[in-house]
Amino acid sequence: MYLLIVEDEKAVADQLKELLEQELYRCEVAYNYREALDLIDEKRFDLVLLDWNLPDGDGLSLLSLMREESVATPVLMLSANTEIDDRVTVLDAGGDDYLCKPYSNIELLARIRALLRRETPQKSTRLCIGPLTLDTKSREVLLSGTPVKLSLSEFDLLEILLQNKNIVLTRYQLNDHLCRDYSGIKQSNLVDVHIKNLRKKIALDDFITTVRGVGYTIKDSN
Ligand code: CA
Repeated sequence: MYLLIVEDEKAVADQLKELLEQELYRCEVAYNYREALDLIDEKRFDLVLLDWNLPDGDGLSLLSLMREESVATPVLMLSANTEIDDRVTVLDAGGDDYLCKPYSNIELLARIRALLRRETPQKSTRLCIGPLTLDTKSREVLLSGTPVKLSLSEFDLLEILLQNKNIVLTRYQLNDHLCRDYSGIKQSNLVDVHIKNLRKKIALDDFITTVRGVGYTIKDSN
């Protein structure tokens, strides 16, 4: 599960990140509106924790913008405002839940779990590149309609690369992604081995690009 924390108070954001990472969620932090917008454009999160008051905009406009652009990611709004009207405003703007600061970590984690359990029917479960399709729900991979059998780790690598098309992911990020989910032993060349296998199983030209000294990316030529 991949979470975005939008919070301008660095200490609060860092604390939140630490708490969520202890619960084995992967997190990114945006310290302002602009950064949050860029990250939401670039990546697919499973949940956004959104602070209402940001230095360069407000969380509510960001939420409205996301919904206008059909981004269906669940949003949990965090705010120091306690008015009941605010709760209504958040829900009307397409927010999924609202929590007043200060909140208890236990309540926050419970609400996050509840939101992550919820199905978001608008969310596409299919990631495509050329003739290749990956279904994140059925965990099926098709190459020109023919099923491709991948190991758990190969599937997870392919999924994260497709979710982050045109973005170079470092070996460290990829390795971290694999080890978080399966508590595997960190092995420095693990990612390279899986990439090699993926290329063998999915023999497409220019499928996964190696960025020397950095990592890998899947480029969308469209
Ligand atoms: Ca704030």
